[in-house]
Amino acid sequence: MKLPRWLQNYCRNQRFINMKIKKGDNVLVISGKDKGRTAKVMKAFPKEMGILVEGINMKSKHVRAKRQGEQGQVVKISAPIDVSDVKFLCPKCGKATRLGYKVEENKKFRICKKCKSEV
Ligand SMILES: [Zn+2]
Repeated sequence: MKLPRWLQNYCRNQRFINMKIKKGDNVLVISGKDKGRTAKVMKAFPKEMGILVEGINMKSKHVRAKRQGEQGQVVKISAPIDVSDVKFLCPKCGKATRLGYKVEENKKFRICKKCKSEV
């Protein structure tokens, strides 16, 4: 079943609000060919609900020679993956967990749902 576009956008916006994983977080990959690996988030794309994770989802990219006489080469780069393909790794309790929010004095904190500590 295909959802109407407005509903797709609506869902995406809802997810946008709920994107809790940020740059510098450690995550556990839970699907795809890198399943089971842990790595660090290098970049977050909240609008696309994507993240770029170090060494995960490596893709080969052909780089053309810039000057004459130089050889083109193949470089490996990480491609963004969907945020739903990973789980947050709590630095406090070391478990793969979900994140919640806590609001205190108009400040918003992310908290680990397992050990309840701020992350
Ligand atoms: Zn924790």
